[in-house]
Amino acid sequence: MNRRDFIQAAAASALIADAPASPATSKMVGLQVGAVSFVDEGVDKALDEIQRDAYVNTLFVATFTYGRGIAGRQTPGQPLPDHGRQEYDTAGNANAFHGGSYTRIHPQYYKDTVIQDFRAPELGDYDVLESVIPAARKRGMKTICWFEDVWRRDIPNIEQAQEKQFDGRNSTNLCFNNPNYRNWLLGTVEDYARSYEIDGIMWGSERQGAFAQALGAAHESSPRDVATVGCFCQYCERKARERGIDVARARAGFQALGEFTAAARRGQRPVDGYYVAVWRLMLRYPELLAWEMLWTDSLRETYAAIYQKVKSVKPSIGVGWHIWHNNSFSPIYRAEQDLGELSKYSDFLKMVMYHNCGGERMATYIGSVGRTMYGDVPGQELLDFHYRVLDYQQEKSLAEIPKSGFSANYVYEEAKRARTALTGTKTQLWPGIDIDIPTAQTNSRSTPDGTKEAVLAALRAGADGVLLSRKYSEMKLGNLRGAGAAIRELGLA
Ligand SMILES: [Zn+2]
Repeated sequence: MNRRDFIQAAAASALIADAPASPATSKMVGLQVGAVSFVDEGVDKALDEIQRDAYVNTLFVATFTYGRGIAGRQTPGQPLPDHGRQEYDTAGNANAFHGGSYTRIHPQYYKDTVIQDFRAPELGDYDVLESVIPAARKRGMKTICWFEDVWRRDIPNIEQAQEKQFDGRNSTNLCFNNPNYRNWLLGTVEDYARSYEIDGIMWGSERQGAFAQALGAAHESSPRDVATVGCFCQYCERKARERGIDVARARAGFQALGEFTAAARRGQRPVDGYYVAVWRLMLRYPELLAWEMLWTDSLRETYAAIYQKVKSVKPSIGVGWHIWHNNSFSPIYRAEQDLGELSKYSDFLKMVMYHNCGGERMATYIGSVGRTMYGDVPGQELLDFHYRVLDYQQEKSLAEIPKSGFSANYVYEEAKRARTALTGTKTQLWPGIDIDIPTAQTNSRSTPDGTKEAVLAALRAGADGVLLSRKYSEMKLGNLRGAGAAIRELGLA
C-alpha cells in the first residue's frame, strides 16, 4: 500500500468511525442540487434518495446563480424527471424562476460593493444551507457551496459592475477587475465561510476573453459579433496599460478582427484564406492575444483572491473551481486552463467531462470555428484535427456525435490527462459527470449504462472523485442509479 492509498484508507476508516451512516468510500461522490429540490421534495426524502441511489457523500448545493443550469426545476421544453414537483417553474407560475441567492444575505459582508440586493425571490426567505447542513451532517455528508458567474440585467446598481463591450455598451457579464464585483465575490465567500458550518466552496465562470469570443471558439449556438465581446472597461484598460499593452492598438486589432469575422460568416473568403488571415491579424496585432491573456489572468487573480479570503477565515474549508466544458472542445481555451498554474489556488478542480451532451456541443463548436478561422476546412476534417490535437481516440463522426454523444473513453482520456497534469500538486480532480443535461430531443439522451460507464471511466483513470451534474431536479433516478452501480462495481459502496 503506497502512502496515498494508506491516507485514503485511513480517511475512509475515520469516516466510518465518525459517521456510520456514510458510505465507506474514500472517493468524493458529489451531486449538484438546487434549493428547489429540497423545498419540493423535503430535505430528508431527497437525501435518502440521493444516498440510496448513488452513495453520494458530498452535496454541492447551488447557493447563488441567476441561471437555470444549476438552480430551479427542469428546463422548460425538457421532459420532467420521475421525482419532484411535476411542473415547470416558468413565468406565470407561483414559483417562477428568477434566481439569485438561496441563502440569507448577511449585509455586513457586502459593505464594499454596490451589489446588495440579490436574494432569489421565488422561495420566500428559505435558506438552503440552514435547512440542509444539519441533515447532511447527521448522515456524514459534506456540504459544499456551489455558485456561479451568471447574472441578469435587472439587479439594482448592477450596471456599476458590468463589463463594457467593444461597442461601449454594458454587458450582462460582470468584470473581474471591477471592485464592485471583486468585493461582492469576496464578501459572498466570507459570508458562507463565517455564517455556516460548510466543508467547501466551489465557484464557476463559463466565459473566456475577447479574442476567443470573437472567433466563436466555444460551443455557443449564436456566435458573438465582435461588438459584444469584452471587457473594455476603465479597470481593464488601466490594467492593460500597467502591463504595457497599447490600448489603442488593441482596439484597432479588434476592429480588424471584427471585420474579418463578419466577412467570414458571410462566406467572403480572404484572398489568402481564413487561417492565414487570422495569423496575419495576430502578427500585426499581438495585442489581441495580450488582451485575451489579460482577461484570463484576471480570472486567475479572482480565483486566488477568493482562495486566500476563505483560507483567512477558516483554512479547513476546501476551495475549488468548476472548469467550463469548452476545455473539451477549444484548444485555445484548453491552453488557458493551465492546471499547474491553477493548482496553486485550488484544493480541487471540477473539470467538466459531460460525455452525453459533449457530442452535440462539440458539433456546435466545430460549426462555429468552421465559420471563422477554419473556414477553409470541411467539417469532418476539422473535427478529426480536433480529435487529434485534443487526444481523443474513439469518438464518432460529425454527423453521428450529436446522436451518439461522446464515449466513456472520452471521460477516461480527459480524467487521465487532468490527473497527470496535477501530479505532485495538492489539487484533487473531481470530473463533472453528465446526468440528463439537456440536449435536443432528437439527439442522444442519458442512459443508466452510459452514466455508469462514465463514472467507471473517471475513477479508473485515477480521479479523486466524481461530481454528478448539473442539478438533481433534471436527473432521472434510473440514470442516477447508473452512477451508483459504478460505485458498487468499484467496491466503493
Ligand atoms: Zn473590465
